[in-house]
Order: sequence, then structure tokens, then C-alpha cells
Amino acid sequence: MTEPKVRVRFAPSPTGPLHIGGVRTALYNYLFARQHGGEFVFRIEDTDSNRFVPGAEEYIIESFKWLGIRFDEGVGIGGDYGPYRQSERRAIYKEYVDRLLSEGKAYIAFDTPEELEARRKEVPNFQYDAHTRDTMRNSLTLSPDEVSRLIDGGTQYVVRFKVEPGEDIHVDDIIRGDVKINSSILDDKVLYKSADGLPTYHLANIVDDHLMRITHVIRGEEWLPSAPLHVLLYRAFGWTDSMPRFAHLPLLLKPDGKGKLSKRDGDRLGFPVFPLEWHDPKTGDVSSGYRESGYLPEAVINFLALLGWNPGTDQEILSMDDLIRLFDLAHCSKAGAKFDYVKGMWFNREYILKTDNAVLAPAFDRILRQNGIETTMDRVEAVVGMMKMKKISFIRELWPLCDFFFRAPEHYSTDDKFTRKNWNEGAAADMTALAGLLEGLTDFSVESQRAVVDRWAEETGKKPWNAWRVCLVGTGKGPDMYELAAFLGKDETLNRMRRAIQALG
Ligand code: GLU
Repeated sequence: MTEPKVRVRFAPSPTGPLHIGGVRTALYNYLFARQHGGEFVFRIEDTDSNRFVPGAEEYIIESFKWLGIRFDEGVGIGGDYGPYRQSERRAIYKEYVDRLLSEGKAYIAFDTPEELEARRKEVPNFQYDAHTRDTMRNSLTLSPDEVSRLIDGGTQYVVRFKVEPGEDIHVDDIIRGDVKINSSILDDKVLYKSADGLPTYHLANIVDDHLMRITHVIRGEEWLPSAPLHVLLYRAFGWTDSMPRFAHLPLLLKPDGKGKLSKRDGDRLGFPVFPLEWHDPKTGDVSSGYRESGYLPEAVINFLALLGWNPGTDQEILSMDDLIRLFDLAHCSKAGAKFDYVKGMWFNREYILKTDNAVLAPAFDRILRQNGIETTMDRVEAVVGMMKMKKISFIRELWPLCDFFFRAPEHYSTDDKFTRKNWNEGAAADMTALAGLLEGLTDFSVESQRAVVDRWAEETGKKPWNAWRVCLVGTGKGPDMYELAAFLGKDETLNRMRRAIQALG
């Protein structure tokens, strides 16, 4: 028998912004699909109308667009197995719920939330299961006539899955191996609610994975407790042979200490936990995003890929193509991965160095404009090229390092340490001589300046560069002096030199 084509899915519930852990889950699915020449499906699991948040679906789509994670079919794309939004698949689920009911694998329960609450108070650790279902108000304890009467009279009900106790259920997990759980600890999960005519997550998830021919379910560890129930559902439907293989990914842990990474950790330590900025439609609160914080999408991808997996070598800088080639589900770790956000900043620095200046320039141009500077993109690009190797993690850090490219020092003063040290006795005279030399140049390129100034320095034994830096920058920062002067041009260079000579004497 030939193996079926690999088909994986990312199936978020639109309950808010996508958490960074969800991004990693989607990334691993994407890598797995690409590596196997398979297909990646984007499904929206919106059967819990109480938790629906407007804008969440659009946010998720935009996040993946930014990150370069592409789906082959699903919401917003289409495909042969649609619709891909679960709220549009009611009729399909109803059919499968009815099937379980008619086969006696599920039953109807009328217990009201108040009745259930009372029971929970009465019985410690109450669980709706094989031991208690006989004492509840459901189609197993009521007569068929009574059940029909209640339904016809409009009484709300749920459909519960009938879990047989005392059986070891095996979940075959690619990362965790054989995970065994006894069915006695499971409750008779609600699969469907008449109130909104919608299934719960469990039923919709299984039916869709089956109908959409999903071969591998790769998802966060938080879904592992649901997996035994899912195995039972596949069996109840007679789909065991085509059951997807599971892989439950390790949790993302707090950067400092134990426990699950939360938004609060991000707020406390100053890093985003969402891919894009999120504006909460209810509270108006704004949460920071990787994109708006100045991360390059390639850096975020590289960083996330290594949270829970590594290629087995020291190689850390991995492009999407590298990752597709090297990724291996079986080598994901079981143990949680510490969310080392400082490492994330390091990745961003590395990717800034690797990225074309033309790609980086627009981000710096925005910052220049915020500071009242308008110039051409060519000049922005040139500055980014001269300055990006100064160990910056974010493009915005360039501004204080290179404001002098775009505006002359406001004043010259020996209050500045670098100036005090380098503006000595002969400085004014040297700078006057240097200005004279430069004035004579018609070609103001780096090479042309270098030829003339280096020779003069050698002949006279002078070292004019630090005093010259005082003139052009006003302090001890900036790139190579010839590069800076060439960028400023002859007029601006000479102007700054004259002003410095006058101010400092
Ligand atoms: N809707 C679930 C979520 O929000 C999907 C879990 C799964 O992948 O089965 O993550």
C-alpha cells in the first residue's frame, strides 16, 4: 500500500491574537508539509461562539503572511475539502452526531448547568461518566417517550460521548512514543449542544481531520490530554485505519524559571508574545508584536524553529529552506523549551547583518521621518550599510548612532569627553590645513580623499582623524571618516569643519 500524501493542518480558534507558541506550531506543520511535498490546510475552529473575537481571524492570516508561512488550502484560499470555517459546517457535524446516537455510542443529556453545579457540590470530584451517568437526567435513564417530549418541547440538551471505563487507551505519539491513559479517568465529554446547534471542539476536530484527510496532527502539548478521547472517537466512527499520527510539541516555558510562557512574562520582561501588534476590540488595550517591535520575519522564524528542535549540529542560522531540509519531528524534544527572548534579539541582529540594505532602509526611513528628516532612499540605504554592523538588534537603534549623517552637530564643546581629549593645541591649525586640502578636490569620493589626506598625514606626521571626527560628528562615534565625508559631500564637510574651528578655537 502506498502512503497517503502528507496533509497537515493548523486549526486555530479565533479567540484573540495568535500566541507565539501557536506560531511555532504552525511553523512546524509548514516545515513538515514542505519537506514531504505535502499539503498544509488552514482551518478555523470557531464552534465556541462565546469565545469568538472579531478581527482574530484576519489577524492570524496577516501574521502568517508577514512570517512567510503559506497555506495550500483553507479559509481565504479555498480547496476541495471546504468550507474550512467550522461554523459553516453545522450540517456535516449534525450527521455524525446523529450517527453516534443511533449506534448507542453517545446519548442525550438534559441536566441543566444548575443541576450539574449542585451535583459537583454534593459529590467531591464529580465526573459525568460510567459511574454517575445512571443517576443523571439523560436518554439512558429517561424513557424514549420522555426524551422525545422534552426535545419537542424545546428543552435544551447536549450530546455526550459514552466512554466505556477500564480500558487502556494508547496514543502513538511521534515525539512522546506510546502514551497510555486509562479510560476510567475520562468523562463523557459533551460533543454537541442543541442551544447553538454546534458541535464542541472534540467532535468537529475529529470529523474535520478525517474528512479533510489529515495524516499528521502536530499541535501543542496542551492538547495531549484530549488525544485519548480523540482516539476513542476515531474508533467509534470506524476510522481507526486512517487515523492521523499525533505529535504533541513541547511547551514554551518562561524565560526565567518554570511554568508556561504567558503574556505577563512578556510585559514583565519587555518582549512581545504575539507576532503582530494586537488591539483588543473590547478593552482597547494594545499588546506589542514582533513586527512592530522591529523584528525581521526571518529572524523570528529561525528563533522559533529552534525552540523545541535543533538540527543536531551547532548551526544556528538557518533559513526557511535549511529548516525545510533539516527539520525532523522525531527529534523534537519532549521537555519544555525555555523562551530565551534575548536569543531572539541576537537572531534579529544576525539577520540585520544578512539582510540587504535596500530591504532594511524603509524601516529606518520611517524613524528618520519621525525625527523630522526627509531624504532620499539611496541615502538612507547608504547609512544603513555603513552603520548596521555596530551591534544593533533593532533598526531603531541606528538613530542615536547616526543622527549626524543627517544634521550637523548643534554645538561643539569640550564638555564632550572625546572632544576634550582630541581637540588639542594644534587642532584648529591642522583642521584649517585639512580643509584647504579637501577644498582643492574636485572628486570627493572616498578613494580620492584617501589618496590626498593619507599622503599629507604621512608627510607631516599628523594624525588628523579624531579632530576631524570632532568637526563632522561632534563626538566620538560614526563610521570611517572618508566614508562619512563622502556621504556628507564637500560643502557640508567644509562647513562643519569651519564651524568647529570657530567654536573650539
Ligand atoms: N482549535 C484548537 C486550537 O485552538 C486546535 C487544536 C488542535 O490542533 O487539535 O489550538
